[in-house]
Amino acid sequence: MSGENKQGFAEALLEWYDQNARDLPWRRVHTPYAIWISEIMLQQTQVVTVIDYYKRFMARFPDVYRLSEAAEDEVFKCWEGLGYYSRARHMMQAAHVIVSELGGVFPEDRDALLKLPGIGPYTAGAIASIAYNEPVPAVDGNVLRVMARVYADGRDIGNPKNRNFFETLVMAHMPDRSGDFNQALMELGACVCTPKQPDCENCPVKMFCDGYKNGNPTDYPIKLPKAAKSIHDVSVLVLRHMGKIAVVRRPEGGLMSGLWGFPVVMDEDSETAHLNYFESHLGYTVTRTGLGSKAKHIFTHRVWNMQVYYYDFKDPEQGLETVDDPELRWVSKKDMEALAFPTAFKKLFKGIDFFRKGD
Ligand code: SF4
Repeated sequence: MSGENKQGFAEALLEWYDQNARDLPWRRVHTPYAIWISEIMLQQTQVVTVIDYYKRFMARFPDVYRLSEAAEDEVFKCWEGLGYYSRARHMMQAAHVIVSELGGVFPEDRDALLKLPGIGPYTAGAIASIAYNEPVPAVDGNVLRVMARVYADGRDIGNPKNRNFFETLVMAHMPDRSGDFNQALMELGACVCTPKQPDCENCPVKMFCDGYKNGNPTDYPIKLPKAAKSIHDVSVLVLRHMGKIAVVRRPEGGLMSGLWGFPVVMDEDSETAHLNYFESHLGYTVTRTGLGSKAKHIFTHRVWNMQVYYYDFKDPEQGLETVDDPELRWVSKKDMEALAFPTAFKKLFKGIDFFRKGD
């Protein structure tokens, strides 16, 4: 790492940031709670999308006490569409810890923040530096890209083992205004040093940038390909009865853990496999009545090719009132609005007649 030709990097960046920072709602407040909520939402989600979610979430859960008291379904409903529901679940767990063990006060340094559920090095660094001005790095994808280009460094940014190296680069420039510096790096990555077309001519740090000087900034960062995603054929079972539809809670610890969804059978589309599922999981005897829509959903590590199959009870006189299973609900179209349904399943709604016709 060579820093000799980079004296003045932080000052140039901060000067630019002071004049060009976007006016984002979470930048108007400096409470650790607000920073935390925005940072968790911004993981894997675009700023423009997060703005409305953030405003709604803060109106509903304005502080850590309100969040710690909230029911899981209430929080998931507010999170609906952002995906990666484990983020919301970890936030609720962290809120409980802060209220029940820390008297409602956020930890004030990065190491203590790291002990909370769902808070990794990036989020801990962002909260500690922005809320408390602790001189610690907050290295996200934007910062990795900027630093890899500024230093023309060929390390694989997808390899977590290289995170330390990039954190050290950031620390080599860390000024007194640590929170602003971290945000300025992210802002530069989001607005100027963009992945495909960095605006180098208008970049405030081009005089320090080796990638620019070498004429090949977009050769960086290096990101080696990850293992291929696994592909699954997923039978989505739609069981309708008396104007309602059966939904089940997804098993804890798996994909979309704890959320409500349609019953599914993985990688097995035979009617026998489906009937077995209904009997063994729900205790129902059913009959297949047709084939519905298809949709594809890409998760982080897998791809679901979904196909809807319609089922009815074999005995049309069967009632719903006998059912007593906390993991199963019979819901009307209206009831569905109160449930947080994962985007993967929502993609099928348009093609399912239950959602098209009035019920
Ligand atoms: S000069 Fe270009 S590559 Fe270097 S930091 Fe600025 S925008 Fe990124």
